[in-house]
Formats: sequence, structure tokens, C-alpha cells
Amino acid sequence: MTPKTFFTPGPSALYFTVEDHMKQALKEQIPSISHRSKAFESIYAECVENLKQLLQVPAHVHIFFTGSATEIWERIIQNCVEKESYHLVNGAFSARFHETALELGRKAEKTAAPYGRCVKQEHIRIPETAELIAFTQNETSTGAAQPLEDIYATKRKYPEKLVAVDVVSTLPYINLNHDIIDTSFFSVQKGFGLPAGLGVWIVNEKCIEKAKSLQEKGYSIGSYHTLPALLDKGKKNQTPETPNILGIYLLAKVCGDMLRKGIDTIRKETDYKAAVLYHAINQHHAFTPFVSDSAYQSKTVIVANTQTDSLEFIQKLKEKNMHIGSGYGSYKNSQIRIANFPAHSKEQVEMLADEIAGL
Ligand SMILES: *Cc1c(COP(=O)(O)O)cnc(C)c1O
Repeated sequence: MTPKTFFTPGPSALYFTVEDHMKQALKEQIPSISHRSKAFESIYAECVENLKQLLQVPAHVHIFFTGSATEIWERIIQNCVEKESYHLVNGAFSARFHETALELGRKAEKTAAPYGRCVKQEHIRIPETAELIAFTQNETSTGAAQPLEDIYATKRKYPEKLVAVDVVSTLPYINLNHDIIDTSFFSVQKGFGLPAGLGVWIVNEKCIEKAKSLQEKGYSIGSYHTLPALLDKGKKNQTPETPNILGIYLLAKVCGDMLRKGIDTIRKETDYKAAVLYHAINQHHAFTPFVSDSAYQSKTVIVANTQTDSLEFIQKLKEKNMHIGSGYGSYKNSQIRIANFPAHSKEQVEMLADEIAGL
């Protein structure tokens, strides 16, 4: 039997080179080096450089490291919103981003789409007073993806507002234009195929200026992970705290491997694998895609309704060593979720599609 493969939407399968990089890191005792050493600074620099190249992040845009994407929700609100943010909500993760703003005492309005859909661009109406617009480009809970053109059109309509984009379960697949939006972020256990415990925050100068202006007005913007603190240390290729050194090392290496493979190849393969998976779901008598409008169907998290208890299907696939996700929250027993990340090879996805056909 084939080895166990995690098609779960996060944590998910490790990128195939992680094992060797992890062995090498242990051999070099990377987890023991000082985060104030030259050795760490060069790992940090390699990681930022590889990320910038892979994700086509312009030189003037900053990349910082945090503990998770959940942390970045909080940091964006603390650093970039004085009074009011506005949220496009289409699932559990975007709802949590909105709640975070409320918990931090901000006024936070939202427009919510029914689960399985996205708010249509022409229905996006943003209060004059909102300072930041939050999108979740790929809702991992529902498999609904907001087309990038919707996000760009919203920014064009409201150029003075900051636009934040959660791309946790869609990078490196999605070709995000970092010159248009102001900030985006992800954690590494989804599309990058790495162990959890590292968040990556991509930030332009406007966000830094906003954080500084809030600080000058006497607002608290947090403590060790404020944008000015991250920038100050980042200039020296360091972090304010003792970071996940192993995680940063592994991310640098995996980004290097992805660069050698080529981002265009990764994107083409993702499209091909998504087509194979949607085909398998459309052909199956008991499955239908949760996101019915194909314009909003995620390529990286495929969600299907199941006619009968989804756990039965999940269990049968598990017996074949293929681990797929259950539905999220209240959809636990009525849906399946399948991750289609760069770590999942074409062969693995084809095998999964064959097994789905036989269910
Ligand atoms: C997983 C996920 C998060 C949270 O990531 P953590 O690493 O658990 O903090 C946020 N947004 C989306 C869309 C996600 O899929």
C-alpha cells in the first residue's frame, strides 16, 4: 500500500524535500544557533529573498515573521486600524478576522455572503469611515475563492483605504499583485507544506506609516510585534523575539526548491490537479461541489457536499492511506474538504480521484 498522504486542508502533507532539509538542519544544529548570530541573519535573508522571488514581492515591500496567521489578524487590526475596519465574510476564517477586530475594541462592519459563495464585487459597499478592508481570498472552511480582480477593483474604488488579504490556503498558487494591495499574510502548514508554527506577513510602507501614526497619537499598537519593531529588527535580518528558527530555515529551503521547480509549473500543476478533483466530484453520484458557481471555486481547497454521512467516505479513503478533511464546523458530517497544495503530486491526486470514483 502507498504511504499515508494528508490531503487535509491544514496541517497538510509536507513538501517532499522537507525531510531532507530537516535532517540537514539537525546535522548543522540550526535549532541551537543564536537568533542574534550572523548564521541566523543569513538564514533570515535567504528566506526573505526566496519568498520575494517566488511570490514576486517588490523590493520596497517588507516581509516579517510571526507565530501564526491568527496572530497576524490581531497585528493588522492593532497596527493599521484606529477605529474602524470592514470585512468581507464568507466562512469561518473571515468571520474570525472580523471578530478579532471587535474583540480589540474596533468598530468592524461586514458584508456576509452565504457559505459557499463570495460577496459579489458590485455588492461591496464600504463605509466612508472604514480605514481598512479585509478580504479572505480563499475561504478554507467553504472552498469559496474571491477572484483577485474583485479585490483589485475594490482597491481602485477606495484607493485611500488599506486592503488586507488573507492568502493562507492559496499561496504560493495565487499570483497576487503586491503593488495593488497593502498587506497579505499566510502560515506555512498549508500551501508551503511545512510544519505549523510560523506566520508570514507581507506589508507595504503605507501600513508601516499608519502604525507609526497610531503610535504617535498615543494608541497601543501591541508590544514586541508592532510593525515599527518588526521593521527595526528586520533591517538587521533579525526578529524582536527568539523566533521559530527551524521554521524559517525550512521555509527558505522549500522556497528555494519551489523556485527551482518554477512557480509557473506549480501553478499549472495546481490547475490540472484541481480539474481532476472537480471532475471526480462532479462524476460521483453522492457528491456535488459546495461552491456551485465555478467562478468562485477554489483551486486549492476543494469542498463537496455528500448525500450521506461524509465520515463514511473519509473512513474508506483513510483505509487506503488517503486522509482528506471533513466539513468545517456544522458541515462536519455533510461535506468533505480536499487540499490541493504544491506538496500534492499529480500522481497522488490522480490516485485519490480513482479512489473517489470507486467509493
Ligand atoms: C488556517 C487559516 C488561518 C489560521 O492559520 P493559523 O496558522 O492556524 O493561525 C487563517 N486564515 C485562513 C484562511 C486559514 O485557512
